[in-house]
Amino acid sequence: MTYLGIMRPEDILKPTPAGLCSAIGGFHIDPVRPVDKALITHGHSDHARAGHGAVLATQETLDMMRLRYGENFAGATQAIRYGETLKLGKTQVSFHPAGHVLGSAQICVAANGTRVVASGDYKDVADPTCAPFELVACDAFITEATFGLPVFRHGDPGAEIAKLLRSVALFPERGHLVGAYSLGKAQRVIALIRAAGYDKPIYLHGAMESITNYYVSRGIDLGELRAVRDAKKAELAGAIALCPPSSLQDRWTRRFPDPVSAFASGWMRVRARARQRGVELPMVISDHADWDGLCATVAATGASQIWVTHGAEEALVHWCTLRGLEARPLNIVGYGDEDEGAAEVTEAEA
Ligand SMILES: [Zn+2]
Ligand SMILES: [Zn+2]
Repeated sequence: MTYLGIMRPEDILKPTPAGLCSAIGGFHIDPVRPVDKALITHGHSDHARAGHGAVLATQETLDMMRLRYGENFAGATQAIRYGETLKLGKTQVSFHPAGHVLGSAQICVAANGTRVVASGDYKDVADPTCAPFELVACDAFITEATFGLPVFRHGDPGAEIAKLLRSVALFPERGHLVGAYSLGKAQRVIALIRAAGYDKPIYLHGAMESITNYYVSRGIDLGELRAVRDAKKAELAGAIALCPPSSLQDRWTRRFPDPVSAFASGWMRVRARARQRGVELPMVISDHADWDGLCATVAATGASQIWVTHGAEEALVHWCTLRGLEARPLNIVGYGDEDEGAAEVTEAEA
């Protein structure tokens, strides 16, 4: 590290086996192993793990970690508001909306005038269940690349919801099961269904009740919600129910009359994946930026260095290089895209 002159991004944040580490700040971001001080971008389990000494995150992320891991998930916690600046070691740190799920944040770490932004997971499209992505100008931008191939263009989520509602209208005797990851995706799908004007009760699998109730407690209006467990089979004819993607194939579906199986994920752009899972109604809805979103965001940050993590790193690195940006994959083991259900798809493919 140099004390004179311009600080390089890698003097501020560096990939280590435990995750991104700021030696001069005395913290890690989204560490995959237990550390003394962790700054957490959002509540998905590949980013937010239990067992750290101290956790600094938005109130929503802390609450979600508490819901998942229990009261003692960390030695100490500190809630950080979007836009607030903290001094940690020799760095100034601020959190900014990432547009991914409720409470999700990009973390900006600055020192001696150099700024590095770790964006966690993000999307640059509207989502009624969380604050919109905020563009943060920086020198180095750390981006995910879950859907980092030109084939991934998510399109209009409203059109996907319209497909579901058309099916409900066509098959009023069948239950409609929508597989959706339980933190973020499920609540967004419900909000989109409401935005399309559907006002009947929507049914929930038991595994998504607590997180969905948490969204409602934070002021996200999801209309009338009922537990599947309390419903009679006849009541579920023509109804919409949300469940974790893994439940689409289990015995649980038998309580629905002749169920139509739908699945909301960016991976549904790949028809073969939908077929393999026996999904009748693929819905291309993702909480990650698509290829165009990744490229547009990378360019808009003005960063000259791009570090790429979890996903199709090579394609985005190549795209950056062609534009004269310095780019490299981070190769940190432990981040996945469980929130899009890909792990389960891969299992089915094996
Ligand atoms: Zn995520
Ligand atoms: Zn992730």
